Amino acid sequence: MPPMAKSLGRMSWNLTGSWRNVTPVIDYEKCTICMLCWKFCPDLAITCTEPPQIILDYCKGCGVCAEECPANCIDMKEGL
Ligand code: SF4
Ligand code: SF4
Repeated sequence: MPPMAKSLGRMSWNLTGSWRNVTPVIDYEKCTICMLCWKFCPDLAITCTEPPQIILDYCKGCGVCAEECPANCIDMKEGL
């Protein structure tokens, strides 16, 4: 398998959660389950479930999900 392909996804060698200093928190009262956060997360750290869940072991805190959420229901909180 090429090295780039091996680095993608939720794998034991790809635990990017330790990079995080801000943490996304979903307000499920506002979530419309559109799944754009799942689609945009570069680390596949969001489950394709209803509602989506953030798997913090793989979340590096980049904030892409919060930026892309059309319902504006993901807050990036300080800390882990
Ligand atoms: S992008 Fe926002 S509204 Fe859509 S599923 Fe994710 S948290 Fe919910
Ligand atoms: S902040 Fe959001 S988009 Fe970035 S890695 Fe974490 S869950 Fe994925």
